[in-house]
Amino acid sequence: MLQENYREVEAKVRQAAERAGRDPEEITLIAVSKTKPLSDIEELIRIGVTEFGENKPQELRDKFEQVSQPVHFHQIGHLQTNKVKYIIDKAVLIHSVDSMHLAEQIQKEAEKRGLTAEVLIEVNAAEEETKFGVTVEEAPSLVREISTLPNIKIRGLMTIAPFVDDPEENRPVFRRMKQLLLDIKSQNIDNVDMNVLSMGMTNDFEVAIEEGATMVRVGTAIFGARDYSI
Ligand SMILES: *Cc1c(COP(=O)(O)O)cnc(C)c1O
Repeated sequence: MLQENYREVEAKVRQAAERAGRDPEEITLIAVSKTKPLSDIEELIRIGVTEFGENKPQELRDKFEQVSQPVHFHQIGHLQTNKVKYIIDKAVLIHSVDSMHLAEQIQKEAEKRGLTAEVLIEVNAAEEETKFGVTVEEAPSLVREISTLPNIKIRGLMTIAPFVDDPEENRPVFRRMKQLLLDIKSQNIDNVDMNVLSMGMTNDFEVAIEEGATMVRVGTAIFGARDYSI
């Protein structure tokens, strides 16, 4: 079932890319396995899936250590400074950097281990009060500030769009993110790549792809609804 779900989402990713005249190869589908058992991850590994997303650092660490084959885990959820140590050498990409304070902690832990942490800057593009992330206006200066940290490489931007009934409502949000990515990219900041745009979830990933997403984070459409009571 999970394998079929994944294949279906993958096909929709490809179709959305083609509709937008984009190369489907540009888009990475991240299977968001948060709250789901390791056996679900293993089932997808059997069909060659390598990209998984987690939002709790300890859960990422545990799954990283238990999984039968090396796969990539993305830290997609909010990260507290005291938890950076759990994922610094395990997450292939940290999608949720939204302050210099957090970046400094990532720098410290990365330097300690002699590695470079790859990160995205989280932008609260719709300026929702309940969401983490910097505003569109704050993003360029935060990128500049973080770019001075030698053990961090900024790869792009991430956003969590509002929960809406009609995904079309999020199109302007995704468009604003793409424009912001291009604006920052045009500044040619040293030590910064602006090539990754992580946006789009189960409800709106097709619209996000049409507007330029290069990574989509899909949980429910692959794994089914999550049960937070257990
Ligand atoms: C849970 C989560 C997702 C996946 O959400 P679905 O709606 O289940 O696809 C994507 N991104 C982040 C940051 C998440 O926390």
